[in-house]
Amino acid sequence: MAPRETRYSALVDFDGTIAPDDPTDRILEQYADPAWRAIEAEWQAGRITSRVCMQRQAALLRATPAELDAAIRAVRLDPAFNGFVSLCRRRGIEVTVVSDGFDRVVGGTLGRERVALPFFANALQWQGGDRWRLALPYGRADCRSGAANCKCAHSPNKGLWRDERCVVVGDGRSDFCMAMRAGFVIAKGALADFCRAEGLAYASFRNFDDATRILAEWLDRRDQRPGGPRPAARGGKACP
Ligand SMILES: [Mg+2]
Ligand SMILES: [Zn+2]
Repeated sequence: MAPRETRYSALVDFDGTIAPDDPTDRILEQYADPAWRAIEAEWQAGRITSRVCMQRQAALLRATPAELDAAIRAVRLDPAFNGFVSLCRRRGIEVTVVSDGFDRVVGGTLGRERVALPFFANALQWQGGDRWRLALPYGRADCRSGAANCKCAHSPNKGLWRDERCVVVGDGRSDFCMAMRAGFVIAKGALADFCRAEGLAYASFRNFDDATRILAEWLDRRDQRPGGPRPAARGGKACP
């Protein structure tokens, strides 16, 4: 099937979504000073933003690049993610991976699996020896998700709310701001709770077998509706 005229975009989270085992947490468990857990608890209690949390945790990593890359080689992708990407290619949807984790992890894993997709993540910079710092090229002080990587800044339709040409797939708090921009959200975990509370159009998924079926059904309903996608509301620039 040829790509449709209407160009859709899909913004897809990495940790807990494409990579179901939360690789950032696994890497911190393996290599960070144990103080990372107290920082995680602060974030879970809502006392610090993910932006602050991620920078402090990255500074506690104690791994050489070779050690870190060995852990990255063990990161598992959802085996059905490739099928989701194929559906998107057939239906004219541009897929972008947006992660509040480490670029070395996202890029290394997608590269190993030969998944050729653009991605945006926080920049993990080696400081020599076993030390690291996290730079935030996509951070925004006013991000409503408090994310290190303000994900809604990567939407091609930044000025719009509830844009039916934008679909989001995710599971957590870092996905909140981009979910507000999307016309449809495929969600689990805290993101599903958020969509329910905010009255966003969403469907629950467990894995990419579900997500692929849900997206195909959603596209079919869009295609059958006369007049195509409803116009989105104007909503200023990315975040808040
Ligand atoms: Mg996630
Ligand atoms: Zn944001």
